[in-house]
Parts: sequence; structure tokens; C-alpha cells
Amino acid sequence: MKTTKTTCPYCGVGCGVLVQQDDNGNISVKPDKEHPANFGRLCSKGTALAETLDHPQRLLYPEIDGQRVSWDVATSTIASRFQQIIAAHGAEAVAFYVSGQLLTEDYYVANKLMKGFIGTGNIDTNSRLCMSSAVAAYKRAFGEDLVPCSYADLEAAQLIVLVGSNAAWCHPVLYQRMVKAKKANPALQVITIDPRRTQTADLADLHLGLAPGTDAILFNGLLAWLAENGHTDHAFVSQSTAGMEQAVDMAKSTTPNVQVVAEQCRLPVEDVQRFYALFGTTAQVVTVFSQGINQSASGVDKGNALINCHLLTGRIGKVGAGAFSFTGQPNAMGGREVGGLANQLAAHLDIDNAEHRALVQDFWQSPTMAQGAGLKAVDLFQAIGAGKVKAVWIMGTNPVVSLPDTEQVRAALAQCELVIVSDCVSHTDTLELAHIRLPALGWGERNGTVTNSDRTISRQAPFLPAPGEAKQDWEILTAVAHKLGFAAHFPYQAAHEIFREHAALSAYHNAGTRCFNIGAWQDVTVAQYDALLPTQWPLNAAGQGTVRLFTDGKFFTASGKAQFIAVQPRLPQAIRSAALPFVLNTGRVRDHWHTLTRTGISPRLSAHIAEPYVEIHPCDARDQCLQEGGIARIHNGMQHILVKVKTSRDQQRGSLFVPIHWSGQFSGAAGVGRLIPAVVDPISGQPESKHATVAIEPY
Ligand code: SF4
Repeated sequence: MKTTKTTCPYCGVGCGVLVQQDDNGNISVKPDKEHPANFGRLCSKGTALAETLDHPQRLLYPEIDGQRVSWDVATSTIASRFQQIIAAHGAEAVAFYVSGQLLTEDYYVANKLMKGFIGTGNIDTNSRLCMSSAVAAYKRAFGEDLVPCSYADLEAAQLIVLVGSNAAWCHPVLYQRMVKAKKANPALQVITIDPRRTQTADLADLHLGLAPGTDAILFNGLLAWLAENGHTDHAFVSQSTAGMEQAVDMAKSTTPNVQVVAEQCRLPVEDVQRFYALFGTTAQVVTVFSQGINQSASGVDKGNALINCHLLTGRIGKVGAGAFSFTGQPNAMGGREVGGLANQLAAHLDIDNAEHRALVQDFWQSPTMAQGAGLKAVDLFQAIGAGKVKAVWIMGTNPVVSLPDTEQVRAALAQCELVIVSDCVSHTDTLELAHIRLPALGWGERNGTVTNSDRTISRQAPFLPAPGEAKQDWEILTAVAHKLGFAAHFPYQAAHEIFREHAALSAYHNAGTRCFNIGAWQDVTVAQYDALLPTQWPLNAAGQGTVRLFTDGKFFTASGKAQFIAVQPRLPQAIRSAALPFVLNTGRVRDHWHTLTRTGISPRLSAHIAEPYVEIHPCDARDQCLQEGGIARIHNGMQHILVKVKTSRDQQRGSLFVPIHWSGQFSGAAGVGRLIPAVVDPISGQPESKHATVAIEPY
């Protein structure tokens, strides 16, 4: 029996798993009792990992225009087409669109090639769709994109506030940890804040089913209430923060009292009072926030509104306290470390900062650094549609299903001069539009690292041979870099070499002024890399990790102080009308992942929820003449989808919920992305995926 320690490839919890293979090649997947994310737990998706290994539709060979070609031809063609387009239209005419599914080593090489050698910031990632608002909120408050907490804080808290987070379905192992913590400590209070009453609310002592999009009002009201009622930590605020007066004044002017908050959020006054009193009187508060906050046209402000409350009460950098973003994808955090977002540089450096650009250019010895941020996801696909970006290489993601306004995305790719898609499966809606298709390695075959929601870096290790001619993304990128003439700068033969370079960059000219530092790993041997234990960055010189940030009250802004942000709450852009009277909310279901390319092949996982559906309040269903189990047509005046009707009193009246997973590959008429307008947060660029206006009728 051979055992491989690795990490689950699904969500940002980043659970450790043990893969066991017997002499006949039978594989079983078990939870790793020693991994600090899960300590022996797995959710339904993790438990079913072995069932999704033998994928019947693997992409096995490189193809150009549907014809099998050699890797040499494929990578030479990509390089020459990129060179032609860049020569004719400039570097801004090419782009990469990557994924939180990539390993950090893949992400690093993609980012280096695009920002340091092709010379444009046009590399963005599907992580833009799940947590870029949290990135921007943290950066504004703390000076760097830093998640202050650790999973252990969930067990140490006396109050957990979950805002816009259905952790029971989307971060199940963390939810299990919270359930266990509450059993062990009945005094632990849990408050859920979500327009939809999800399964997560089963754990709650108080559920606030607020009006969609009013989170910043609720937290501005809390900030004003905390300041008025003597809950300010004056020593912390004066020594460690700036901007408190302006933020509190703004909060008081927008939400002067609890009655106003209750009215605007459509909540009972006594529930708002209870929430505020609990927050005010509990020293150890963790506020968890997720897509319900981030996927909003004011997601950054919402994040800062809740961070403000932690700053005012000094509840940050302490055991059991902090504002904690639960990341969606397994390696969205690793992508952030290497600068996978268009508005970042590598090693948490800032692409708009000339000194940072010079530092990275010097380290990479690159000829052509990007001179500023590139196009964020939604803007990128609009630029493709407008013919400004003429070549795009999409890696490990399916934007024709997952982006908003998917019909525009489909049309943009259909007329794009050169579309390259690397994927491990052979059939996705996006692959159908590719000129060049590249077979990538999948989970169990590739080698590298990922970082989870509490900054823990873990290994993903291979235990299966490469199928067909599939290669890891960094290998494909390296081959193209060589064909572009950059061989000396991309000398990689193995994943650990890339990891060492990434670690060395994090420590380059970093005398403690930047938080991200894993320099202690810059000389790891391959044996040490293979044996790397899960560790939370930053590392000290001895290679020990950091459980919690800001314990010394020092932050990474220029002043060293955390910054309050004065938040003027803004309601969602789409407003209900007689023609489009419903608000459409989107999200995940418990047993599926993204666009079903992996979980869709497991009958066990599909048994939980087998078909796309719309959840609607029974009174709304009655008013719209919809029958339970019947088919509904949901439209926004231009596009429509067909889904099965499920009635639930957990859904507010006037609101609908449709899961994101189904699309043309799995259900021809159900891709909900076509109903979501391409409205984004002006700072983060994250789409408002939880608030479209639509109509619903029987089909
Ligand atoms: Fe995998 Fe997330 Fe489930 Fe853990 S919680 S087993 S990382 S899907």
C-alpha cells in the first residue's frame, strides 16, 4: 500500500488528504488527521475524490483547429502567433486568463511570463469573481492583502458572525469545526447575516435575513452604535489606527440609530439591537465574510464596513478575534501571493508602485516589465469583444459559464483572433471556442503547492502518471517562454525550482517592510519540498509560520497604522421594476464544484442535487402560477434560462436563488451567468453576481 499526502483540490478550506493505492492500483482517499485545516475531517466532495479521478473525457493531446499536433508545433505556433500580434498591435493585445485551480508554481510562471517578459499586466484570474473585493478591502485597511486570522480563531471565539457565507455548503469542514466548537462551548454565540436562510443558519442563535445588498448599512450602523455606547478600544485606536473620526462620522450620518438601520435593512429592531449588543459586549468576535459580501458592486466598501468595527473595538490580532475572508477556490490565495490578479505584482508587491516594479524587474532580470495594472476579468472579455485584445490563453477555467453576461463572453471568444485553452477535460463550453487546445494535468497528476484561506501553504503531490501527452501548466508555459526567446529566464525542470524562486523573491530586499515572506524556503531541496509541512506564512528565519497577524498592533500601511475607511453605503445597481420584479441571487450547492467538470461525473455527488433549479418563496410561486417541480422560465428581457421550481420559505419574497454550476455541457438551457449583468465593483472589478433583476413565469 502506497500513501501520498496531498490536499483536496476543491475549496479554499484546503483540507489535507491521504491517498492510498494498493498493489492493484485501487485508490482510496482519506482525511489527513494531522493537517491543521481539517484534522481528520472531509466533506462530501473530499470524500468522493477517488470517484472523480478516472475522467471519461480527458484532453490527451495538443490540438490546433481540431487536428492533433505535437507539443513542439503547438508551443511554436502559440509563440509565433503571440509575436505577430504583439508586433502589429503591442503587448496589450494579448492576455492570459487563469484560475484559482492552478498551483502556485503554475501561477508564478504565468504571471512572470506575462508581466515580466511579454510586458503587460493583462493576466487576470477567475479568483476575480470570488474574493477580489476582500483583497482590496484588506489592502485599504491593513496596507497589504492580509488575512489576519487562523482557523483556530473559530474555536477560540465567543461570537462568530457569518456574513454572506453559506459555510455549511461552501466551506463544509470549517462549518463542522464551528459546530464542534459550539458543542464544546455552549456559550459560543453564532449570528448569520444573509437574505437567504441557508443551512448555515441552523447553527445560529440569531439569523438576520436582511434586505439584499444592505450589509454596509448594517455594519455602518454597528460602527456608530459601538462608538456611541462606549465600546471603542481607545488605546488601540490611538496607537494603531488612523481615520476613525471620519469613518464614525460617516456611519452616524448614514445610519444615525438602530431604528433607521432596521428599517433600511428590513429587520426587526430587536434583532438589530441584539446583534449590536452581542458584538459590543463580546471580546472575542470573528466576523467571517464570503461571496455574499464580495460579489457586489460595493463589495470593497462592505468589507471595509465590517473591518472598521473590528478596528474600533481592537478586535484584530488577538486570539479568537478578527475579520476573516473565507476564500472560494483551493488556490485563490496562492494566486494572490504570486500576483495572479491583473492589478498585483508578484510577492504581494504593487504593480502601480514604480519601486516595486523595479525590484521585481531586477530580481527577474526581465527586459520588458508591465508598467501598470492590466485588464480585470470582465473588462478583459469586453476588450476581447471589442477587438482590442486579439489573443487570449485561458488556463483551467470555463469563463463561458462562470463570468457574468456569458453570451457576451461567448460572442467575444467566437470572434477573437486566437483563443488558446489549457484544460484537463476535453469538453467545456469554453474549449468549444478554442483554436488551440492544450492538455493539462489534473489533481493527482500535478505537483506543487496551494495556499488556503488562513494562509496555510500545503503540498499537492502527484500519485498518478500523466495521461496521454498532458503536461503541467508551468511546463507548457515554460516551453512557450523558450520559444519566445526567454529560455535563460525560464530554466525550470521541476516544480520545486519554481517554488524556490518564488520564495527567494518574497525575501528579496524585504527587511520586514513587507509581510509576505517565505524566504526561509528559498533553498529547499527536492526532498525537503516533498516533505513540506502545512505552514502559515509569513515565515521567520527559522522557517516557522505565523498563526495570527498584527499581534503587535503594527500594520503595513506607510504610517504603520490600520486605516479606517469612511463608507457611504450604496445599494445594488439593478432596481426591481414591474417588468423585472425579482432579485436573482446565485451561489453553490453542497456537492458540486464550479461548472461540474469534475463533480458532475460522480453519481454519488449528483444524487444530492441532480438538476438546476430555482428556489422561490411559495407565495411568490403561487402568485406566478408556478408549480413545485414544474419548469420555470427566468428572463432578464434579453436572455432566459429554464430551471425546475423548488419552493422554500427560506427564500425571501421577491428573491430567487439559482445555483451557478449548470451550463450548456450539462443542461443546455440553465447557465445562469447569461442573466447576470456585467456590473462590477469600481475598485475590485468583482462582478455583482448576487443581484440581477429578472422575471419568472411557467414554461
Ligand atoms: Fe475539500 Fe473544501 Fe470539502 Fe475540505 S471542505 S474536503 S477542501 S471541498
